[in-house]
Amino acid sequence: MPAGLPILMFHAIDDAAAPTCFPPRQFRRAMAELHAHGYRTLRFSEAAAHLQTSRPLPERCVALTFDDGDASVYERAWPVLQELGMTATVFIMPEAARATTGERVRTFHCRRLLNSGEIVEMHRLGIEFGAHTLHHPVLTRLPSARIEDEILRSRTAIENLLGAKVSSFAYPYGRHDRRCRRIVGRHFAYACTDSLGLARPDSDGLALPRVDAYYLRSERLFDLVFTTRLPWYLRLRNIPRQIRRAVLAPFPPHPMLVSSSEPLSHGEDASPARGSPRRGRREDLAPPLGNG
Ligand SMILES: [Zn+2]
Repeated sequence: MPAGLPILMFHAIDDAAAPTCFPPRQFRRAMAELHAHGYRTLRFSEAAAHLQTSRPLPERCVALTFDDGDASVYERAWPVLQELGMTATVFIMPEAARATTGERVRTFHCRRLLNSGEIVEMHRLGIEFGAHTLHHPVLTRLPSARIEDEILRSRTAIENLLGAKVSSFAYPYGRHDRRCRRIVGRHFAYACTDSLGLARPDSDGLALPRVDAYYLRSERLFDLVFTTRLPWYLRLRNIPRQIRRAVLAPFPPHPMLVSSSEPLSHGEDASPARGSPRRGRREDLAPPLGNG
């Protein structure tokens, strides 16, 4: 692992045009390619522990992460991962996990989120769950007491659900600063951002970079994972991304974690582009500015 570890960041596995959606057919193909190339998948906390202790990683390994706990992780990603013997880490807002099948269903970006039964089932079979706050706020905008409340309560809720320790955290929208990292560091061993890059032993364990799968949304681009060109490609994509974030959209959209009194069926496609007045064209079509 000379250049660094790719920690891939997915959100939904869906054919919708939103930058947070990775097409199911391409996801299956990408996982099959990783498998065919002999890649081993690591849970985020395993990967971070290796990096922080400078323990050597296997030559070919990758960490798969999914932010927000979209239901498509269970419906579309999980069957592929099981088939190929792969593992992953899912960062969830546990307020959403209170719902079980047939009860009130929480949604985010108008999409159904994992219910507690699905989370428990995946955890039992080896998937790691990390915290992503309770309500997906921009942490850098909050007073310190609110930050602490969001992250501590999210960790406790997941631990109560799973009966297992939660050591990993992902910053909503990838937004963090020194104050956030200090507070997160009191409650989690490791945290990740949406900074575009490969994770290295000298990376900050409370702000590990990832590779947003949006930038790998074609067969040709995903296959860069298997080449030494990947870090160069990420640096190239990061330049306009940083400019857009700084100049055009310094603030991500307002959080949209809401509850629905009508449960969505598993098969219902809550396409973010359909019938949602809160879903703007920019967010659907533009490259990601902070989906984490
Ligand atoms: Zn998120």
